[in-house]
Amino acid sequence: MKKKNYRFLLADLDNTLLDFSASEHYALCRTLNDLGVTPDDEVTAAYSSYNDSLWKRLERREITRNELIRTRFTGFFESRGISADGTAAAPLYESYLSRSAVMIDGAEELIGKCRGKVGVYIISNGTARVQLPRLAASKLDKLCDGYFISELVGYSKPDVRFFELTVQRLPGFEKELALVLGDSLSADIAGGIAYGVDTCLYDPRGKYDGTSSIKPDYIVNDLAPVIDILAPDRNPDL
Ligand SMILES: [Mg+2]
Repeated sequence: MKKKNYRFLLADLDNTLLDFSASEHYALCRTLNDLGVTPDDEVTAAYSSYNDSLWKRLERREITRNELIRTRFTGFFESRGISADGTAAAPLYESYLSRSAVMIDGAEELIGKCRGKVGVYIISNGTARVQLPRLAASKLDKLCDGYFISELVGYSKPDVRFFELTVQRLPGFEKELALVLGDSLSADIAGGIAYGVDTCLYDPRGKYDGTSSIKPDYIVNDLAPVIDILAPDRNPDL
């Protein structure tokens, strides 16, 4: 393991600090119910994979954020032959999602141990009207030292401009002192590598098999070992 004295932890939000999958499931089930569609396992899994594919297209800049938000339900319903109002689904879903915030195990402890020693900054590709209420509901807005939402920054991970504009706001920032932590190889890890900072993949299901061309500096299956990565010789208290 590298021995570095990290002072900045740039942590992804969804499925890294907050359990997005749980919130997505909750919001989706409530939305589908409201529209008279039974939210069985097959439909929710299919939506999840359809939505993931749209976010990957956004990362590749093939679609815009607005297109994603506007079309994900209409497109999904169409692809499944479901006759429900996709235009009505979008605001319902966002409203349910924005109210749901479930912390990932170990996230609060990690942030607590960093306090006063390593600045913790959230870097999220979400939309502001969903992420800001979730940051408030989880109290992460107060627990962390700052947060950056791609919609407000103007660029999304893995675009290096997202990182450039974000770190401009961090006093004393140096690339050498920063670690990006996230669950997405294509957004968090690829972005961190492109920007030139160390990266740590949070891989709770052990899906990373090393075959990807995107190579994180560290891989953890839960958040507890992140403390050991951050724990520099000069910070024995961590
Ligand atoms: Mg994530």
